[in-house]
Amino acid sequence: MPPKRAYETIIGLEVHAEMQTASKMFCGCPVVDFTTAAPNTAVCPVCSGMPGVLPVVNEQAVEYALRVALALECTIAETSIFARKNYFYPDLPKGYQISQYEHPLAENGRLVIPSKAGGCLVRVRRVHLEEDTGKLTHRTDPETGETFSLVDLNRSGVALLEIVSEPDMRSAAEARAYGEALRRILRYLGVNSGDMQKGVMRFEANVSVRPAGSDWLGNRVEIKNLNSFRALERAIAYEAERQRAILEAGEMVEQQTVGWDEAAQQTVIQRSKEEAHDYRYFPEPDLPPLVVSPEWVERVRASLPELPQAKMRRFEREYGLPAETAALLAEEPATADYFETLAHATKAAPRTAANWLTGALFALLNAREGSAPSESLPAEAFAALLDLLDEGLINQNTAKSVLEEMLASGESALTIVERRGLRQISDEAAVAAAVEKVLAAHPAQVAQYRAGKSGLLHFLFGQVMRETRGQADPQVVRRLLNRRLHPDT
Ligand code: ADP
Ligand code: MG
Ligand code: ZN
Repeated sequence: MPPKRAYETIIGLEVHAEMQTASKMFCGCPVVDFTTAAPNTAVCPVCSGMPGVLPVVNEQAVEYALRVALALECTIAETSIFARKNYFYPDLPKGYQISQYEHPLAENGRLVIPSKAGGCLVRVRRVHLEEDTGKLTHRTDPETGETFSLVDLNRSGVALLEIVSEPDMRSAAEARAYGEALRRILRYLGVNSGDMQKGVMRFEANVSVRPAGSDWLGNRVEIKNLNSFRALERAIAYEAERQRAILEAGEMVEQQTVGWDEAAQQTVIQRSKEEAHDYRYFPEPDLPPLVVSPEWVERVRASLPELPQAKMRRFEREYGLPAETAALLAEEPATADYFETLAHATKAAPRTAANWLTGALFALLNAREGSAPSESLPAEAFAALLDLLDEGLINQNTAKSVLEEMLASGESALTIVERRGLRQISDEAAVAAAVEKVLAAHPAQVAQYRAGKSGLLHFLFGQVMRETRGQADPQVVRRLLNRRLHPDT
């Protein structure tokens, strides 16, 4: 058998993100939650494609687009042009979509995505504004078995940002990391909820495979409409493997557009290169060129918040946190702010605060269906609990049970500790008395321990903790037990 040749997967992503402005891109209709709003209730003559209407550009949408483009370090075009992309589909009442084509709002950006090797650079080719389509729901009549489709135009005309990368990703995992990094940025910028299940962010993956080390690009296959990170990752992995097998067999990969069949976990062909659409783009005659002044750009640039990557690095540096903890805390601005308030309010070390937040509190909140820390427990109240721990007034186990009770009752840590008499017993005499009592009650175990069954120390330790209702200082218990069992050391 000839040696297996190594292949390289090349991926470029096109990401569509709704700009969650108050109103739509070219009319005054409100942007509603398409998963809950009654169908066709946020619709007007403009977004339903009536003849004789005129679109007007939504300034807020341009502002949001600028935020994203600047966060991705793009060059902003002072003048960009809206065009008509013509095609027929039942979710597109006008028969064309208004989109920037030859002259996009922004170009030549970059995004560094986290990776084991310390970060990988993905170049951003362009960022442009367009409008979303309506939504189709396909149904089957249970009685007649006839299929039909329902049209909801609530989403029609919502501002949509398209972010196109260069083919710079080399694995499904890298593509996912890029998608996640983008989502984090959009959420930080407050332009998109990142709620993938509601379809506010969608991916198209372009995939090709070539022999490792070669510098040409193979024919690409475009996978349409990937609505989750899981689908994105699986579809790319599937497609890369399919193309590899074709190349292995000495054949050529055909350029085509495919869909992802979630049930079958495979890509299915939608159209070949010959069937590709000709959108007959031409400049939108009803809209003037979009002019963005340098002053506007600078104003938006100055208003950008600290971005996820920068925040994560700062958390590592400023608070001495490990990278994984810093990443967890920087995932959402609200969590990051909560952590900083907590770290500044408590006497405990920032690292301790971070561990309690990402460990105990996250676990308790997850069990309560993932409510946000700030809504469940004021950071100052949490800080007071960590202070009690830091001062040695309570031990770790007690702190965990007090935390749980704080969430349930809303009482302060000190109130709970005093009411339940949970102060840690560090008083040596009290602990020594408990040690004596336990040793006297378990003579057989003590004898076995002395005969070499060293694991029994753990049992005796547990008994002393039990005797003190879990309130003894574990370090004092360990010290006194050792002293009693090994009097000569
Ligand atoms: P179109 O606008 O027709 O979809 P583009 O050439 O602009 O085509 O590319 C769209 C996306 O496909 C970009 O994200 C780009 O990075 C990616 N891409 C282009 N060529 C390849 C390739 N050979 N393999 C993988 N991705 C590619
Ligand atoms: Mg494309
Ligand atoms: Zn409208």
